[in-house]
Amino acid sequence: MVLVVKSGGAAAFPEWQALFAEFMPELEVRAWDDPSVAREAVEYALVWEPTPGQLARYPNLRLILSSAAGVDHILADPELPSHLPIVRMVTPDTVERMADFVTAACYALIRDFPRIVALQRERRWNESLCGRLASETQVAVMGLGQLGAAAARRLALNGFAVRGWARSEKAIDGVRCFAGDAQRDTFLAECDVLVNLLPDTPETRGIIDAALLGRLPRGAAVINVGRGSHLDARALLEALDAQHVSAAVLDVFATEPLPKDDPLWQHPGIWVTPHIASAVPRRPRARQVADCIAAQRRGEAIPHLYDRQRGY
Ligand code: NAP
Repeated sequence: MVLVVKSGGAAAFPEWQALFAEFMPELEVRAWDDPSVAREAVEYALVWEPTPGQLARYPNLRLILSSAAGVDHILADPELPSHLPIVRMVTPDTVERMADFVTAACYALIRDFPRIVALQRERRWNESLCGRLASETQVAVMGLGQLGAAAARRLALNGFAVRGWARSEKAIDGVRCFAGDAQRDTFLAECDVLVNLLPDTPETRGIIDAALLGRLPRGAAVINVGRGSHLDARALLEALDAQHVSAAVLDVFATEPLPKDDPLWQHPGIWVTPHIASAVPRRPRARQVADCIAAQRRGEAIPHLYDRQRGY
């Protein structure tokens, strides 16, 4: 029973081995690029950005485990075997970290932290930067899945006025829920902070474009923690320069790491964070992988499976 690992590079491999030795000692853990691995022996693959074509070369592969919540980095493989189940990495840690990050970003925005930090650099004392109350702030969360629903719930518990939008109808305590394209504009109309937690699909790609930004009330802020592919960065820069959008916290980008010459780095209205909104340590991730493999071997349902029909 062999698991090949491509996640975190060579430096991370000993830690993965030690963790699986603890959680599933019967599993033989091998590095993705180890030439001595017998292809027929490989049943499981834990991957981030798998080398295109390599997954297709394991004839007895049973399960592909993404080392992150998104699976876009796996679907990018043109030779990806279409019959194999793919598991998204969604641990309790993933959910809690995202709720923490989104809440922290909302507070930072409503209390003007980006401007306060900029003024500190210039040694300027501005007592007018008193911000606004959470209870006076409408946060609109796009995507009410594992992460979006938890973030929305946490924001509501912190006193924000929260609305959420998904494909299907939802009922979440303290959150006003909207569903489908027909309700999208109503959902956006009263929004002080827009939070994106949609998955990357053909329907959602580029969704935060000039038209959507134009629907937000003047002065709204944007938090993108979904995927870089959701955001038209040029449209955001234009909306910031026109002061239609007041600020943005961006954690995910079309190209990562964000290239050094990208204008997003320099814009005074933008906070760039390096895809860490919900960066989960290896221990809980190894625990989830071991649990999924165990569930599959017992013939039980595997949690957090990517649904090819839905596209997420
Ligand atoms: P998920 O459980 O698959 O939930 C997706 C949500 O989006 C669902 O509520 C779904 O609606 C909704 N949705 C999908 N397509 C839609 C559409 N066309 N219109 C309206 N709503 C739509 O996803 P998740 O686990 O919460 O992850 C959300 C995002 O976070 C993903 O993009 C993931 O890659 C990203 N992420 C980022 C980080 C980070 O560190 N920045 C970490 C982890 C994950 P239904 O509920 O009706 O199906």
